[in-house]
Amino acid sequence: PFEVLVVGGGPAGSAAAIYSARKGIRTGVAAERFGGQVMDTLSIENFISVKETEGPKLARAMEEHVREYGVDIMNLQRASKLIPAAEQGGLHTVEFESGGKLQAKTVILATGARWREMNVPGEQEYRTKGVAYCPHCDGPLFKGKRVAVIGGGNSGVEAAIDLAGIVAEVTLIEFDTRLRADEVLQKKLNSLANVKVIKNALTTEVKGDGSKVTALVYKDRATEELHTIELEGIFVQIGLLPNSEWLKDTVALSNRGEIEIDARGATSVPGVFAAGDVTTVPYKQIIISMGDGAKASLSAFDHIIRNS
Ligand code: FAD
Repeated sequence: PFEVLVVGGGPAGSAAAIYSARKGIRTGVAAERFGGQVMDTLSIENFISVKETEGPKLARAMEEHVREYGVDIMNLQRASKLIPAAEQGGLHTVEFESGGKLQAKTVILATGARWREMNVPGEQEYRTKGVAYCPHCDGPLFKGKRVAVIGGGNSGVEAAIDLAGIVAEVTLIEFDTRLRADEVLQKKLNSLANVKVIKNALTTEVKGDGSKVTALVYKDRATEELHTIELEGIFVQIGLLPNSEWLKDTVALSNRGEIEIDARGATSVPGVFAAGDVTTVPYKQIIISMGDGAKASLSAFDHIIRNS
């Protein structure tokens, strides 16, 4: 059995694995796709000390760094069940869709998240060519341009406020007849001169010229009329879904399905820790996930020395 088994091979899982392995304890990483969301990222400009890099390049560097320590990497393994240890200090079991099983003294859950998509024509085609999901990451690429934000919840309104300071014009599109964001955010939004809000509207298409986004089409739900907005960027803010479905019956999850953790990365199950986008941590970013992975790993080590 492993002393630390990390499930997930994104920034959080990679950092957790390296911190464990450096303690000289037997560490494994099982991941459906090593690299995680970073593999889908074109340019990364906020990974401190690296002015600019590309997702696949960073993912490769993470994997090389993990391999440096003789960590067992089990790629293309999708976990389907966690069976917590029956008694304190016992072994936890993780089952995989392949039928395999792994046991470990401690488990670090780092299965990340995925952005909810609009599922409209053009969205996939223009992903990273104008269709974006992370304002903290991609906002500066649209400096002085026109963008839309899809979604009027807290993340959509926060994104619109954030982007209004960078881009020329922001159009926020909400499906419902009212915004769901906190009052204080809505007030701030309404005070901005370069933001327009369109409610009761359904985005139906992303248009482009083959290489980049040129417009967005929405349907006014009251009149059923279609409208076209010319723009350069579309930020989709309709939810980030944690990859925690397989944990529903074992660890405590928030009402959004995020794994609840304390300041040390501990979950509701002793010996099981979690880090990164799959948890309740506010702000989902590479650098934050890596920090949290390191933290969860140090907590797992502490748990091991106290329980053996
Ligand atoms: P993830 O990266 O999501 O990794 C999760 C890992 O778990 C993967 O290996 C996955 O295959 C695996 N996994 C999932 N389910 C299972 C399962 N059941 N069993 C086994 N393995 C599983 N952040 C920035 O800081 N800067 C940026 O510029 C930036 N740009 C972004 C651009 C895009 C298009 C996207 C989508 C995200 C961007 N982000 C950016 C956010 C950043 O990628 C995430 O915050 C970060 O990757 C989260 O790391 P993580 O390790 O928690 O999860």
